[in-house]
Amino acid sequence: MKCSKDENFEQGQLSRYRNIELSPSAGVLNYGQGLYESTKAYKTKDGRVLLFRPDQHAMRLKMGAERLCMSSPSIDQFVNAVKEIAHANKRWVPPPGKGSLYMRPLLMGSGPVLGLAPAPEYTFLIFASPVGNYFKEGTAPLNLYIEEEFVRATPGGAGGVKTIGNYAPVLKAITRAKSRGFTDVLYLDAVNRKYLEEVSSCNIFIVKGNVISTPATNGTILEGVTRKSIMDIARDHGYQVEERAIPVDELVNADEVFCTGTAVVVGPVGSITYQNRRIEYKMGPGSVSGKLYSTLVGIQTGLIEDKKGWTIEI
Ligand code: PMP
Repeated sequence: MKCSKDENFEQGQLSRYRNIELSPSAGVLNYGQGLYESTKAYKTKDGRVLLFRPDQHAMRLKMGAERLCMSSPSIDQFVNAVKEIAHANKRWVPPPGKGSLYMRPLLMGSGPVLGLAPAPEYTFLIFASPVGNYFKEGTAPLNLYIEEEFVRATPGGAGGVKTIGNYAPVLKAITRAKSRGFTDVLYLDAVNRKYLEEVSSCNIFIVKGNVISTPATNGTILEGVTRKSIMDIARDHGYQVEERAIPVDELVNADEVFCTGTAVVVGPVGSITYQNRRIEYKMGPGSVSGKLYSTLVGIQTGLIEDKKGWTIEI
C-alpha cells in the first residue's frame, strides 16, 4: 500500500512572515506528522542568485511523506515554490562569502484528527531568512562528543527521513554536550553502540590516505544532499569513496574527520571525545576537507563552472 499521495496542493501565495493558525487537533501537533527541509540560495560575484539542488530536497521530502503517511507536493510544486520564495527575497541574499538565504520548506498534517490516523489535510509552506556563514572566518574546527546514553535513531524507525520528531529527542544530548564545551554530538548505532552514525544535523566522513569513508545509509542515517554532493566531488578529486559501517575505533587512526550539511557545508572536526579520551585532528592548509569545501562553495556561488547541473539560476 502506498500511504502518501501527490496531492494537488492549492497554489499558495506569498505573504510577510506571520503566525499561522492550526486546529488544536492538527495531525502535526498530536501525532508528529511534520517534515522539513533546509535549502539555500547563494549570490554570485556578478549578482546572480543560485539555488543548490532543490530537486534533491523535494525528493527527500517525498520519501519522508511516504514514511509518515502524509500527502506531499510534487517535485515541480516544491521546486517552483522554492524558486518563488528565493525570487521574492532576492534582495536579502547576502553577497558571496557573507552567507546565504536560508529557506525552510515545511510539510505538516494540518487537518484535525482525534484517533491515531493520518491527518485528512496537509499544508506546505516555506519561510526564509538570510543567514551568515556557519563559520565566521573560513572554517573553524568542530569539537564533537560521542554520546553513549542516547541514540539518534533505531532500525525500522524514521531516522532516514527528515521528520521533526527526530530533533526533539537529541536536544538533551546537544544541550548537555554544549554545556561541557563541545560543539555537537556524534551518535553511534543503536544496536551495537559501536558504529558511527551521524552528528545532530550533519553527516560524518573520515579520511585515511586516499580513502574517504562515510557511514552507509541503512534507514537510520539521513541521506544528506551535501553528503551526496561531496562524495561526487571527492571522486572527481581522485579519492576513493566508501560507504560502509565505520567502527568508532577507526577514529583514532583517521587523518581527518569532517561533517557535511546544508548549514555547515563542510566542517572540519578538530577533536572527538569518546569515553573520556580526546582524539585531536590537525588540519593544515591543503587539508582534504578544505579542498572539498572550496569546490562545493565554488559551485554553489558560481565561482566554479557547474558541470553537474546542480545549480538553478533564478
Ligand atoms: N543529518 C541530519 C540529522 C540532518 O538534520 C542534516 C541536515 N539536513 C544532515 C544530516 C545533512 O543533510 P543535508 O546535507 O541535506 O543538509
